[in-house]
Amino acid sequence: MGGVIGRIHSVETFGAVDGPGIRYVVFFQGCPLRCIFCHNPDTWHFSRGREISSEEIFNDIKKYKNFIKRGGVTLSGGEPLMQPRFAEDILKRCRREGIHTAIDTGGGIPLRHVRQVIDLADMLLLDIKAVDEKMCIEITGKSNKNALDILDYCESTGKPVIIRHVLLPRYTLNSEELHKLAQYLKNYKCVERTEFLPFHKMGEYKWKALGEEYRLKDTKEPDREDVRQAVEIFASYGLNAI
Ligand code: SF4
Repeated sequence: MGGVIGRIHSVETFGAVDGPGIRYVVFFQGCPLRCIFCHNPDTWHFSRGREISSEEIFNDIKKYKNFIKRGGVTLSGGEPLMQPRFAEDILKRCRREGIHTAIDTGGGIPLRHVRQVIDLADMLLLDIKAVDEKMCIEITGKSNKNALDILDYCESTGKPVIIRHVLLPRYTLNSEELHKLAQYLKNYKCVERTEFLPFHKMGEYKWKALGEEYRLKDTKEPDREDVRQAVEIFASYGLNAI
């Protein structure tokens, strides 16, 4: 195997929801966060993934080059920035072939470890779990500082960013929190848009299978009207959101 060895959970060859267009999505194994709404808790522990080389992944990506020519490749997870050298090597190979790349990150890794890999990607999909630090710790177990530093870095380098934000009842799904986030984001020129992701329970069975306690089983999933109101709040700040 050539290239850099890493661990992945799986790949999706026709991803339609992780960045622009149809994309080849590599789900990296391992994540430093423990989001209470996580629908992929099976990506958390690094040792559970399968080992693969960047060359092997790239050879597979090339098979789909025609299908992803208006989209590209997204490194997702888990947390792709937990394996920066592995991610870097995949991104370099894509860049040489003219394939558009995106990193979908929860922002759990300090900026000093990931600058170089961010520089190599064409765009970032950055999850801001909560703009309020205390709430972010309640939701993910960690501060939002790394994610906000990454956003600042993208602003300073002009890297395009799509913000992803889970609407979670009792936490982020309320008018006050949404106004706070919109207020925070409104001056960032690097942010192309915000994608609201309504909380859902599709991953609940995985928590059970892993023997983890799922704390949101009685939480109601947001409906279209909830998302519409969030979009409206963002629009009142001149922000593009869907
Ligand atoms: S960052 Fe993503 S993979 Fe990690 S715990 Fe949160 S939702 Fe799950």
